[in-house]
Amino acid sequence: MKKLFLLMSGACLAVGLFAQAPQYSKDQIDALKKEAMESVAAKEKMAQVMVDKVFSFAELGFQEVETSKYLTDMLKENGFEIEYGISGVPTAWWAKWGSGKPVIALGSDLDCIPKASQKPGVAYHDPIVKGAPGHGEGHNSGNPLNVVAALSVKEIMEREGIQGTIILWPGVAEELVGTKAFFTRDGYFDEVDLCIFTHVSNNLSVSYGQARGTGLISVEYTFEGEAAHAAGSPWRGRSAADAVELMNIGWQYAREHLDPIHRSHSVIKNGGDQPNVVPSEASIWYYFRHVTYPKIMEVYERANKIAEGAAMMSNTKVSRRVLGSAWPRHFNKVIAEQMYYNIREVGLPEWSEADQELAMAVQEEVNSPVQEKGLATKLDTIGLPVRRFVSGGSDDIGDISWKLPTVTLRYPSNIPGLQGHHWSNAIAMATPIAHKGVVAGAKVEAMTLLDFFLQPELVDEAWKYFREEQGMKQEYVPMVGEEDEPAIYLNTDIMEQYRPALEKFYYDESKYDSYLEQLGISYPTVKDKE
Ligand SMILES: [Zn+2]
Repeated sequence: MKKLFLLMSGACLAVGLFAQAPQYSKDQIDALKKEAMESVAAKEKMAQVMVDKVFSFAELGFQEVETSKYLTDMLKENGFEIEYGISGVPTAWWAKWGSGKPVIALGSDLDCIPKASQKPGVAYHDPIVKGAPGHGEGHNSGNPLNVVAALSVKEIMEREGIQGTIILWPGVAEELVGTKAFFTRDGYFDEVDLCIFTHVSNNLSVSYGQARGTGLISVEYTFEGEAAHAAGSPWRGRSAADAVELMNIGWQYAREHLDPIHRSHSVIKNGGDQPNVVPSEASIWYYFRHVTYPKIMEVYERANKIAEGAAMMSNTKVSRRVLGSAWPRHFNKVIAEQMYYNIREVGLPEWSEADQELAMAVQEEVNSPVQEKGLATKLDTIGLPVRRFVSGGSDDIGDISWKLPTVTLRYPSNIPGLQGHHWSNAIAMATPIAHKGVVAGAKVEAMTLLDFFLQPELVDEAWKYFREEQGMKQEYVPMVGEEDEPAIYLNTDIMEQYRPALEKFYYDESKYDSYLEQLGISYPTVKDKE
């Protein structure tokens, strides 16, 4: 009998890492999950302060100095061990608590959008600091959500002696898709069993399989020519700005013959200094997007040829630098289904009349095409794998989703039907709409964490899906090479310019109950109806 038991346990070990973990009854699990929900609800004030505080910092990608300091100080105070500056990125970190397996990593972005400064709770364009960056995407809310969920679960794990490790990590410079591929390349996720990522949205939802949207490679082409007096001896100059224009024209012609599902766009970062000097240096920065890794690479190769052609035509030299990359996203079915069950338990927040009034006024202000006006009142269904590829945005969580089982929890902190990367997307982000959305999301995340810590066999199932269903489709190759480095210098100049003005508006929670109160905004502030 004893022998048989040993044989069986040996077989179990071979099947999965966690097959021998202690078992909790369904009732025990439900009771602990209920407690986690209540614990999150009790941290409502903490969530509001964090959301408002990060909103007020308004820091662009790679410059999230105050944001990262604030979050890591808080995690450190709460017993997390912090590794600073991971992958050579000064504002990146890896915060760890607990011991043993499973290891579950919670991630979210923290950077904002150029020129999106906006007063919260005001339903028309009214910047806090004109021209300054602002949270016109809502990345001020995801890390607060993760902190609230992690602290709630940590309390329960400590008391009950539940084994497992919680990691928190930030998606630094997500708007530049600038870091996550470096984190995976540098091995940060090698020992992690699952990743739960959170992203602001206007409903409470999760999906699995290939997600809507694209992956991308972000590349800056720099041309080098020869300066000369543009009137005195133009024949002695070779214009790098001409090369940029020629590349752009070449790309626009190529665009006609590209699969329409691709997306590409550019900005000219350097077009020369002044008209009477032939520009000796100029550069253009592209995002090349497509729905699969090989297609992204095809588009990129085509652009490289056009860059070489432009250099030949203008008699200049071209070099290129990869500034960011993102794989198309593929999410884990096992985690998503478990999470969706919890989403149904939690449901959408209860919106006040003021919340709805603000939302509808903003939708009207930006001519939103949304069918049902106001905030979401009906839960989304679980997101299924796309049957036909759908173009759109990217997120470098894609890289992590190909490294280990991952999902993105989307939570209802913003207003439906806005155009994105715009001041209007900042309006809700330091109001009760954002605060309630974060609390709802943190409840779902805390419950899902407990599901996997208490039933580690589910981790094995998630890996089975990852290996057998996802992994068969495509092998993961990071788009950043061994020699590539994160472009940490980006946005330095913009933050240097605006930080002194923004500092005056940092949220002081010791003096004001909310950021709305500090700014003297009555909620909601909407235009008078004629
Ligand atoms: Zn985002």
